[in-house]
Amino acid sequence: MNRYIQNIKSGKNLLRDLFALTAILIFILSIVLQLTKTQFLQLVLIVICTILVALIILRQRRNEELEAIKNVINAIRTNKISSPDEINLNKNLVGIQEEIKAMFLRTKSDIENLKKLERIRTEFLGNVSHELRTPIFAIQGFIETLLDGALNDPKVNKTFLEKANHHTQNLNHLLNDLIDISMIESGEMRMSFRYFNMKEFLDPIINECKHEAEHKGIELIVNPFKDKLQLFGDRNKLKQVFINLIQNAIKYTERGKVEIIVEEEEKTGKIIIRDTGIGIAPEDQERIFERFYRVDKDRSREVGGTGLGLAIVKHIVEAHGSKVEVNSETGKGSEFWFRLKK
Ligand code: ADP
Repeated sequence: MNRYIQNIKSGKNLLRDLFALTAILIFILSIVLQLTKTQFLQLVLIVICTILVALIILRQRRNEELEAIKNVINAIRTNKISSPDEINLNKNLVGIQEEIKAMFLRTKSDIENLKKLERIRTEFLGNVSHELRTPIFAIQGFIETLLDGALNDPKVNKTFLEKANHHTQNLNHLLNDLIDISMIESGEMRMSFRYFNMKEFLDPIINECKHEAEHKGIELIVNPFKDKLQLFGDRNKLKQVFINLIQNAIKYTERGKVEIIVEEEEKTGKIIIRDTGIGIAPEDQERIFERFYRVDKDRSREVGGTGLGLAIVKHIVEAHGSKVEVNSETGKGSEFWFRLKK
């Protein structure tokens, strides 16, 4: 558009230059041809008339072109145009026509993105309210039952309190995950990349997850790798990735083992978390990294899942310039892997 306005402006400059040039030419001609005063005036008159007619025609054409552009812009503004092919200006305006088409496509995609974001926001709010309601209702139910008399029944009072406590923990996990995901998605997650020793990093994480595995009778194994292996990343954020993946592996495994494998490659370290658990069907594998997506909602809630763990993992791994991938077979087990720079 700017280019077009500039063209119009330079058109004006052209006319001014043309006038000046013609005046000089007439002057030189009158000297060379030794015109009489009358001939000179006649020549000036003819030239002025010709220029005036040309100017009028040019102006009329400009006005028609501007009107055509105005109509197209108006049609876009009032949503009368749905495809760029409907934008047709005359041959002289091919340049501006292409610019209007590009502008139309960009605006259209901006609007579509905004609509998509709005849809995602509404969906997210719906999910959050639903997820919050479930533990709150459960806690409320247990407390009401206790207050209605169960408090004095030694056969059930402790069980009800334990169940209420379990849901309180779920609520706590959910709130923590919600804070994390909103920080990540609003771009407030500050990363601090450094080299760190993989062994020193992994040991406390394994200690933290060991009890859950022992409790379920599952072996938690770290395959041997070089003591001095240094990898590059944000230790704190990566700790969350490892904990989420290892805890998932334990949560969704009934018997067998969970293995943590660190493979040293030429420029990277490949980290694999492998389990012998329930596995994930191919159609679910594509969706498990979405927020709140769970294969089995009840089971996930039962084991303290929030449906946000893998979405957080995906964001953090991507912030490291890497990608988390999954390979799984129903009934046999799953493995999640990603790479870190060495
Ligand atoms: P959740 O908090 O429900 O575990 P996640 O985002 O961590 O949420 O995982 C999403 C879903 O992916 C889980 O509900 C579960 O169905 C599936 N899943 C994740 N990890 C595993 C695994 N190791 N084995 C089987 N299923 C898994």
